[in-house]
Amino acid sequence: MFPSLLRLPELDVLTPETVSEAAKMLFRRSDAEFVAGGTDIIAKIKMREMRPGVLIDLSGIRELDYIKVQKRMIKVGAMTPLAKLFSNRYVRKHQAFKALEEKFAPPIIANMATVGGSIATRSLVSDLLVVLLAMDSNIRLLGRRGHQTMKLDRFLARKNIRALITEVSLPAPSPNLITLFDKIHPSNSRYPLASISLCLKVDKRGKITYAGVAANCARNGEPSRITRVERLMLGKKLTEDLVEDAVKRLQTSAQPHADFMAPDWYRLEALATLFRRMGMKAVKALGV
Ligand SMILES: Cc1cc2nc3c(=O)[nH]c(=O)nc-3n(C[C@H](O)[C@H](O)[C@H](O)COP(=O)(O)OP(=O)(O)OC[C@H]3O[C@@H](n4cnc5c(N)ncnc54)[C@H](O)[C@@H]3O)c2cc1C
Repeated sequence: MFPSLLRLPELDVLTPETVSEAAKMLFRRSDAEFVAGGTDIIAKIKMREMRPGVLIDLSGIRELDYIKVQKRMIKVGAMTPLAKLFSNRYVRKHQAFKALEEKFAPPIIANMATVGGSIATRSLVSDLLVVLLAMDSNIRLLGRRGHQTMKLDRFLARKNIRALITEVSLPAPSPNLITLFDKIHPSNSRYPLASISLCLKVDKRGKITYAGVAANCARNGEPSRITRVERLMLGKKLTEDLVEDAVKRLQTSAQPHADFMAPDWYRLEALATLFRRMGMKAVKALGV
């Protein structure tokens, strides 16, 4: 049955107006869940995959809807809609975000879905997670012990974190930094079968000083960085040969899953092909 045809069960909804009110509400009841844009959780509740006792609606927290551009960082509030993020002119200087917008679901979803919700789902469907992982982004959380900043990959590795995500920070665009994203999806939906992002920083001689590679199904069908590929690239000059070596390393490092939409070997081949294409683009853009 389609989620849109199912009815929501009766639910209490709380409407905090501040970050601290929202966090207090979460810790007061163990069966409480946040709802941000609602594009993920509402379908799950309708399908009875989740049964929260109470929903905490974050949409009234205006203080979490912002994009602050600083010299080295861009800080984005958790309630910022994805459409607003994609259309920000500084964010769009990252080629990865331009590609992400082009390959994203229809605008109705991008208008509703939020940055915080896309991170909290921890889902292989979240293209944003893939881009943010490759960029080595930090997220800011408000948990029982107060505010905390942590690397996004650490957050994903720790499954039992119960906290309000308040902010994500990513590197500001710069001429020696390239960020790319690509994905393969079925013709009738934007659901990513395989999505991958590459973030490279080079010095004046073309030597890679930072390499970030992440895919939506990198480890048993979960979004993750592919650190063996990153280590291979780090400290080397960005050349076509290096890209080919990195493709081979990716083919022995990524562990995509099989499901009804695609077998694992297909996803692995797709990741390798997309990665090669992005690597060659990076050589053209950054290689010396
Ligand atoms: C038809 C369709 C097509 C889609 N296509 C794409 C696509 O092409 N690419 C893609 O990347 N994604 C796609 N998505 C997924 C979509 O991006 C996610 O559903 C969305 O990002 C979730 O954000 P949200 O704000 O709606 O989260 P919600 O549904 O409101 O919440 C999701 C989860 O996050 C938790 N949560 C929300 N905010 C916070 C917070 N600040 N702190 C802690 N926990 C929080 C909630 O409790 C809930 O468990 C698609 C979804 C649909 C329905």
